[in-house]
Amino acid sequence: MIDPTWYLLLLPVAAASGWLAARRQVVNKVGNQKLPDAYFAGLNFLVNEQPDKAIEVFVKVLEVAPETIEVHLALGNLFRRRGELERATTIHQNLLVKTRLNREQHMLALYELGRDYYKAGWFDRAEGLFQELSEYNEHAATACHYLQLIYEREREWRKADQAARRLMKYTNEDLQHVIAHYWCEIAEQSFEEQDLTGIRQGINRALATNQQSVRAIMLSAKMHFQSGEYRKALRAWRRCGELAPELQSEIIAGVVECYRALHDPDTLAEYLQNLALHNSSGRVLSQVLEYLREIRGGKAAEMFLLRHLRQYNTAEGLWQLLQFRRSQGCDQDAPYSKFLGEFLQMVLRTDRVYICQHCGFSSKRLNWQCPSCRYWDSMRPVQDPQIPEVAGILELLQVAGPSSE
Ligand SMILES: [Zn+2]
Repeated sequence: MIDPTWYLLLLPVAAASGWLAARRQVVNKVGNQKLPDAYFAGLNFLVNEQPDKAIEVFVKVLEVAPETIEVHLALGNLFRRRGELERATTIHQNLLVKTRLNREQHMLALYELGRDYYKAGWFDRAEGLFQELSEYNEHAATACHYLQLIYEREREWRKADQAARRLMKYTNEDLQHVIAHYWCEIAEQSFEEQDLTGIRQGINRALATNQQSVRAIMLSAKMHFQSGEYRKALRAWRRCGELAPELQSEIIAGVVECYRALHDPDTLAEYLQNLALHNSSGRVLSQVLEYLREIRGGKAAEMFLLRHLRQYNTAEGLWQLLQFRRSQGCDQDAPYSKFLGEFLQMVLRTDRVYICQHCGFSSKRLNWQCPSCRYWDSMRPVQDPQIPEVAGILELLQVAGPSSE
């Protein structure tokens, strides 16, 4: 669909290429009675890049003539982009109420008004308009897209599912993974309400839509654990780790919980070490060390840390080492200790754990849907900072390591 604001943006070009000639043509055709001079005054302000004055003039001349519908649509669009939503809705409502519009113009006005309402957060009004618009084949896809967005914002997941399925009929876009998230949302709500039927239905529908939905498998692990089916839960957690190794830091706690319930600390310790040695993530490392300390004791955890540090050179590893040594009373007075600690804290910013691959929004926690651009599955862990000279630093710290291991 052509954005009518383009008409306004093109006005300076029109000025350069015979705007006055066009004006004479229009005046000759429709006469000054139908196209008031104020329109031309307003348009001239736009041509001269004085949008505020132009808007002022247009607002005073709200009476709509068939010849000026495009201008009104474009002007409303301009208001919306400037965030002046009341003015935008006034213009679009005015068009729908006061003007005889043809079918295409009517749909266009509905669409623009719907967008005003959506942007203003008046979702119930926007919903009504997009429902109406979705009955027109030409605009059904756009309308379903907005309906899907509205239901997402209102957390009406079943309706969002319906809108997305309708949208898939009109476009080639594959929305299965998004629909799976809707059912995961339903399952999560059901967990809060302790509604086992809702939980099962949510998870099953999510997996039926997307077999590899990591979120749905995580939820099924949680469900099995709550039902005391620890081995099933463990299998589900480990499957998540296979499907999404980048999300291991979200998975470890679930795995640990299962092994604990199964009273199997040795397999757990083995699992954790193996996991960390095949994963460079600092967040995975810090969790693994915490559990290892608990299961095998501080010394074993420190030896494992040195092994990991030499393999991956992560800033997190060095930070953990510094903490270990401080807890043992080492480095307290060393001049480099304070500096190194501060430097690592600066490098290891904890406010940027996940980053959206689509818009760059960052957050501490994993959001399945980016809160900023509202894309699904777009958050990824921030790359772990590495320290290239870690061997030199270890030498400085006079750390004898298990490098020979
Ligand atoms: Zn985003």
